[in-house]
Amino acid sequence: MTDLPSQVSSPVAGTLFIVSAPSGAGKTSLVKALLRHDQDLHLAVSCTTRAPRPGELDGVHYHFVDDARFEQMVVDGAFLEHATVFGHRYGTTVAAVRDVLARGRDLLLEIDWQGARQVRARWADAASVFILPPSLATLEDRLRGRNQDSEATIAGRMAQARDELAHYPEYDYLLVNDDFDQTLRGLLAILVAERLRRSRQQTRLGGLLAELTHPSSQVIG
Ligand code: GDP
Ligand code: ADP
Ligand code: 5GP
Repeated sequence: MTDLPSQVSSPVAGTLFIVSAPSGAGKTSLVKALLRHDQDLHLAVSCTTRAPRPGELDGVHYHFVDDARFEQMVVDGAFLEHATVFGHRYGTTVAAVRDVLARGRDLLLEIDWQGARQVRARWADAASVFILPPSLATLEDRLRGRNQDSEATIAGRMAQARDELAHYPEYDYLLVNDDFDQTLRGLLAILVAERLRRSRQQTRLGGLLAELTHPSSQVIG
């Protein structure tokens, strides 16, 4: 695997958030709402070999590429992580991550458990969230209600839901997406708390902390 360029892992880099969930649990809707609420958060656009759904735009929802192009990118070491999900290939490029984090901005990856594992192995600091459906029946209703996948695709995604769900113990946070707004508030709370971690604040507040704790600092009063 390619090493991340050094500036990405520098202490000024932003926070990397990973969101995973079985298909239909609501992660795309939640992430879309989260991005509207938080202007400092960026979403990494993945590459995929699956066909665009109605309304999906190349470069916005995904970079849609063919198998040959994807394989070439693997050979070139272009991916931070990549995996096969539901028979199609998905990957996050190093380029999609590098520039955002190097500028100290926060980045969200909407990826499956295989990709999450690869990212954690290279980025121990990443905060990961797993979104659970309230029940398997609700998950199926939502997949069907989305009205964007064929019956065969829905059956395949339901069959794989249990496999994806089995990986919840690998994540830092668990959310049940029952009430949408409540789940969104949970996601926002995670974002805020992760940004306020001492390790991250020490980097951001270096000047203030040095001033406040310098032996020559005096309280004048
Ligand atoms: P995509 O970007 O096309 O994949 O859209 P989404 O799957 O994120 O959302 C599909 C539609 O469902 C959008 O019109 C959303 O506004 C709507 N939607 C998302 N979450 C909820 C919800 O909790 N309740 C209801 N009623 N609609 C929702
Ligand atoms: P994913 O990205 O995880 O595959 P989506 O965000 O596409 O899931 O959501 C699947 C469907 O469920 C969408 O039609 C969405 O509007 C709906 N949905 C998401 N969250 C909720 C919720 N809390 N309550 C009801 N419907 C929801
Ligand atoms: P969908 O086709 O419904 O958009 O996504 C299907 C699955 O692929 C989801 O579990 C989603 O999280 C995952 N996925 C999307 N992009 C990536 C990616 O860049 N890398 C990995 N590993 N998984 C991804």
